[in-house]
Amino acid sequence: MSCIFCKIVNNELPSQKVYEDDKIIAFNDVHPEAPVHVLVIPKKHLASIREATEEDKELLGHIQLKIVEIAKQLKVYDEGFRIVVNTGDNGGQTVNHLHYHIFGKRFMKWPPG
Ligand code: 5GP
Ligand code: ZN
Repeated sequence: MSCIFCKIVNNELPSQKVYEDDKIIAFNDVHPEAPVHVLVIPKKHLASIREATEEDKELLGHIQLKIVEIAKQLKVYDEGFRIVVNTGDNGGQTVNHLHYHIFGKRFMKWPPG
């Protein structure tokens, strides 16, 4: 599997991990767009949210609840943060392994570009 995020999951590529359990990992984005910029990914390879099925329901719920815990750990829970899931070409997705961005420690504008 040549997917870079699968390589990060398998420790074939280094990353600065901030959280890990049996289903997911969270690590700092290599090109941060905010003072806090963490990626949360399932260990299971799903190319994007589009490939998720009924079978992944529990996994997706797990990711979102853990994102809130990770936000507490990163000290952005009270002041707020943004979760982004870029999907496909128009969504600006560049890595084809499902990932949730967590942005924090600065005000996030709306609408996004
Ligand atoms: P996307 O544009 O697909 O929503 O987000 C992909 C993100 O992955 C980008 O923010 C990019 O900086 C980050 N990224 C790409 N390659 C690596 C890598 O090898 N390590 C880490 N930590 N982040 C990466
Ligand atoms: Zn992958």
